[in-house]
Amino acid sequence: MFLIDAHNDTPYRMYFEQSSLYDNHFQNSIKKQKGFRTLLLYAIFLDPKKTTDFSSPLSYFDALYDNFTKELQKNAHHIEWVTDAAIFPSSQKQQAILTVEGGSLIDSLERVDYLFKKKIKVLTLTWNDSNHLATSQMSGDSGGLTRFGKEVVSRMNALGMLADLSHASDQTFWDVMSVTDKPVLVSHSNARAICNHPRNITDEMFLQLMKNGGVLGINFYPPFLGENANISTLFSHIEHFLELGGENHIGFGSDFDGVDALPAGITDFSSFSDILLEMETRKYSRKLIEKICYKNMMRILA
Ligand SMILES: [Zn+2]
Repeated sequence: MFLIDAHNDTPYRMYFEQSSLYDNHFQNSIKKQKGFRTLLLYAIFLDPKKTTDFSSPLSYFDALYDNFTKELQKNAHHIEWVTDAAIFPSSQKQQAILTVEGGSLIDSLERVDYLFKKKIKVLTLTWNDSNHLATSQMSGDSGGLTRFGKEVVSRMNALGMLADLSHASDQTFWDVMSVTDKPVLVSHSNARAICNHPRNITDEMFLQLMKNGGVLGINFYPPFLGENANISTLFSHIEHFLELGGENHIGFGSDFDGVDALPAGITDFSSFSDILLEMETRKYSRKLIEKICYKNMMRILA
């Protein structure tokens, strides 16, 4: 089965815990992807707590980036580094797209071009902290997308880089929607109507995302799923979005290796086989399963 996962933080753990991409004790590894033909979005996460240990956010980015891309080269017989999903289903290898989570290193439009040259396909505008581009949801800051942030989004539109609005404040979400002329990604968030957590999005936001042509990746982190989260809770979110008419606008964004807890029934990447089984038990059509597992994400990543 083909599978696209729009968010995992494995490059972060690999750097700070010095471990391999092929086999490790993390929630994701190439080995744990066995049985699936995967395309994963691997995030270089700009952790504000860690960036201060480096001379600048850029040197932090470079360190994590160099470490991860070396590991990709080492495993080139298993995994292929790509900048879009165009050849995904015909590739004989697993695939990797690199992303950046947190725009704190963007202080000029040239820096956007720098990331583009480094084959970064997606930029999550903020993490939990606000930055030059926009206010984040968890900071509680108001203001939304800044003037500079608007220029950054336009530049990304022109280059073919995707804006990711997970972690963005509601105001930032709406501001980006009014300036972007390309579909956006909400890589790892759920439905606020099912679990009232600020990191999740409202029905109005999801309807707007549908109009925009964008896609949301379902996040596996229990606090974003609901009390006593298990695989069935995950499906409460999926089915809520389906009821809103979102069959072409949802996928997965597990957040593996970015979270310290997982729902009952999910241990690591290999648990996707149980999620797939649940879709079959729920009598989802082949077509719907393919859309959720990869076709929707493939559309905006192509
Ligand atoms: Zn995140």
